[in-house]
Amino acid sequence: MSFVSKETLEARAEETWAAIKDKALTPKERTAIPQQEMPVQEPGLRKRNMGEVALGYSEAQARVEASRCLQCKNAPCMKGCPVAIDIPGFIHQIAQGDYAGALAVIRRTSILPAICGRVCPQESQCQKFCTVGAIHKDVNQSVAIGRLERYVADWQRAHEAQAPIDNAVKPETGKKVAVIGSGPSGITVAADVRREGHAVTLFEAFQKPGGVLVYGIPEFRLPKAIVDKEIQGLKAMGVDVEPNFVVGRTRKLRDLMAKDGYDAVYVGTGAGLPRFMGIPGEELVGVFSANEYLTRANLMKAYDKAEAATPYYPARRVAVLGGGNVAMDAARMAFRLGAEEVYLIYRRGRAEMPARAEEIGHAEEEGVDFRFLCNIERILGDENGVVNAIECLRYELGEPDASGRRSPVPIQGSAFTLPMDAVIIAIGNASNPLIPQTTDGLEIDRKGHIVVDAEQATSIPGVYAGGDIVLGAATVILAMGEGRRAAKAINAYLAAK
Ligand code: FAD
Ligand code: SF4
Ligand code: SF4
Repeated sequence: MSFVSKETLEARAEETWAAIKDKALTPKERTAIPQQEMPVQEPGLRKRNMGEVALGYSEAQARVEASRCLQCKNAPCMKGCPVAIDIPGFIHQIAQGDYAGALAVIRRTSILPAICGRVCPQESQCQKFCTVGAIHKDVNQSVAIGRLERYVADWQRAHEAQAPIDNAVKPETGKKVAVIGSGPSGITVAADVRREGHAVTLFEAFQKPGGVLVYGIPEFRLPKAIVDKEIQGLKAMGVDVEPNFVVGRTRKLRDLMAKDGYDAVYVGTGAGLPRFMGIPGEELVGVFSANEYLTRANLMKAYDKAEAATPYYPARRVAVLGGGNVAMDAARMAFRLGAEEVYLIYRRGRAEMPARAEEIGHAEEEGVDFRFLCNIERILGDENGVVNAIECLRYELGEPDASGRRSPVPIQGSAFTLPMDAVIIAIGNASNPLIPQTTDGLEIDRKGHIVVDAEQATSIPGVYAGGDIVLGAATVILAMGEGRRAAKAINAYLAAK
């Protein structure tokens, strides 16, 4: 898609809004309005700065986009939202210009709309089922539910006095809850349990709370100020945040209950253990897991070469291996850390990529060189053990595998070499094993995920778990949904205790 400036997009929306605002639109007229394009920073500029890429809708864009919604009685979009936000309900309020009302509707089921509006894979969730997209036979023409959700959340942050968040806490109960891990699931549990009047401590291994929202997803997709605001909100409610506290090392989970007097524990420790390929050369200097690469850049600000103490690895040519959101983030981060050529090596085709469509599009616009149906066989190094090339093999798609995706089959004799300075492995993460390893009686499955029942209760009474440590690497909204369910169960458990 060719680049259109923010000013032009906003001016177009003003015109459309002026033309439709006093009309009672028919469904046909609504669906004839094209989806409002999200203004973005110009690709050539943004690939060299950490500022947010997507700039957000203007008010006119939001109201025009909301006017496209048909207010379907059966709301098929809601079945695609893991927390079943009343989508037509909040969009109706936007169309009316009542943004505080829209936020109130969203917050009945989701406490992180500024985050989910930015990072949810909407095209495979709510927007996938939108009637407008179905009419156009194009999911890209669905009502832009996520962008509208972001608009409302951003409006609230800019109009705090007009629409304060209700963070009221019930009288103290004297009960104590430990929440381990401060990602989206932990944040949600901490808020929902604290609201009931229980004392909550949020333990976080890193120096900064926020989980993947802070150390994984880059600033250019999710500004850290938004996550900080959620953490400040928790602190204002009285949640005690304990960074640099590794449960299983600093203190064992069972000791939190037996010695420190916690009545219930929630484990939301995520899937932060990087997987590697097991190929020759992975031990060379210049090979990173995407986790390490992104953590250095996000949490430790490696891009701020003048101020940050984090060692920064200069690389002109960078290869990223993988096809998910993590791979896309690492590839785009490489440009922002100074790379001139960035290759994305993926052994399936574009259609099979699990990353969000918007991120793939943004990576393409920024100049990432996608090498589909291709895989790294070996990483080659110089006499000092430093990466200097990759050896790849071409693939073709065979029969579908158990996941329904067509399996990549190597083409013998198709090997080729590309000169390279750094290689980032982004082929997925496994569950953090520390807590299961240090907690007797905590049941895990063969993949290391903590086993829970329908209420997120684990095999140990009073211990609940959710998010990626239960689901495997999943999504923010799924982690938040699990947190909501667990908090409800913890509150019921404590009420009965
Ligand atoms: P996490 O967010 O992983 O948080 C777990 C926290 O627990 C971490 O802060 C960790 O330090 C802490 N912890 C771990 N062990 C301990 C311990 N023993 N003691 C104390 N603390 C501990 N999802 C989307 O929906 N959209 C996206 O665009 C998207 N992009 C992503 C990009 C990247 C680079 C990554 C890595 C993931 C992405 N995801 C995305 C996935 C999403 O971020 C996760 O599914 C989600 O954050 C999981 O939330 P969680 O609360 O379970 O755990
Ligand atoms: Fe869609 Fe995600 Fe918002 Fe649900 S939370 S409505 S899936 S963008
Ligand atoms: Fe609106 Fe689409 Fe949901 Fe219908 S399916 S209510 S058009 S967002």
